[in-house]
Amino acid sequence: MSPSDLRLGIDLGCSRLTGAIVDADHRVHAERRLAVPVGDYSATVAAIVEMVGILESDVGIEGLPVGVATPGRLNASRHLICGSHADWLNNRPLPRDLAATLGRNVRTAHKAGCLAGAEQRSGGSAGARRVFAAVLGSGVSGALMIDGRLVGGANGFAGAWGHNSLPWPSAAEMRGAPTCGCGLSGCIEAWLSGPGMSRDHERRGGHALAAPDIVARAEAGERLAGITLRDWLARSARAFAMVINLIEPEIIVVGGGLSRIRWLYSEVPKIWARHCATDDLRTTLVPAAHGEVSIACGAALLWPEPGA
Ligand SMILES: [Zn+2]
Repeated sequence: MSPSDLRLGIDLGCSRLTGAIVDADHRVHAERRLAVPVGDYSATVAAIVEMVGILESDVGIEGLPVGVATPGRLNASRHLICGSHADWLNNRPLPRDLAATLGRNVRTAHKAGCLAGAEQRSGGSAGARRVFAAVLGSGVSGALMIDGRLVGGANGFAGAWGHNSLPWPSAAEMRGAPTCGCGLSGCIEAWLSGPGMSRDHERRGGHALAAPDIVARAEAGERLAGITLRDWLARSARAFAMVINLIEPEIIVVGGGLSRIRWLYSEVPKIWARHCATDDLRTTLVPAAHGEVSIACGAALLWPEPGA
C-alpha cells in the first residue's frame, strides 16, 4: 500500500458522519462513525475535521485527499450547498470552509452521486450502462449514471427525484399529503424518508418510532407497523416506477439507512410493473454492495485514481 493510493471519504448525514479510507482497488483500510450535532453548521464543520484526524490516525498517514458526500447539491455559480433536507447546511460554503480549516482542497458531491460512483466502479451496478442510484435515509435523493458518467444536467440536479410528487396518489394520500422540507407537499422525500415513514406511522395512530423500529415491529407481527411498512413499500414501488418510465435504468441501486430494509428487494419488484410501460420489465433493484460505507467510498473516489 502506497500512501499515494489512499483517499479519504466522508458521508455527511443529519446526525452522523460515516468515514472511510479506500485505496486504488477500492479496498477499505479504515472505517469510522461519529455523531454530529443536529442543526449546527459550525459544529458540523468541526466534526468533519475531527473525523479526518481520526481516520488519518488509523492509517498513520496525514494530508490525504478528502471528499465529502453532502445532502443537497452545490450551487454551480455560488458554490453554496442548496436543497439539503438538513437545512442548516443550505446557503453555506461548505467546501471552502473545510478547505480553509483543513488547509487542503476538499471535493464535495451530493450523496446519490457518490453512491452511484462507488457502486459503478466496484459495486452492485458495475458494468451497467444505465444506472439510477437512490438514497433512502433521512432525506431522499437520486442520481443518474449513463455509460459510467454521472449526468449533471443543465442545472446540475439531474436525478433529484426526492422532490417530485409521489406518483399515482390515492385519494387518502392526496388528502393527507405531508408537508415537505422544501415547502411543497406530497414530495417523494416527505413520504419515503425515514422521518417520513415515522410521521406516516404516527398519523395512523402508531407510537413515535424511528423507521428501523417500525420495520422491526412489522417483522415481529405488529399489525399497525405492518400496514405502515406495506404502504411505504407500495409508495416506493410507485416512485421507482416513475424513474423506470423516464430513464429505463438496467439497475436501480439503493443506499442510505433505509436500504437495509430487505423487503424493498423482494416486494417492490412485484408491485412496480403495474405502473411501468412494459410487460417485460428487466430493471433490477439492488442494495448498495458496499453497504453503509458505500457513500463514503464514493466521496473518496471524487479524487482521481493515482496516475490517472
Ligand atoms: Zn419537497
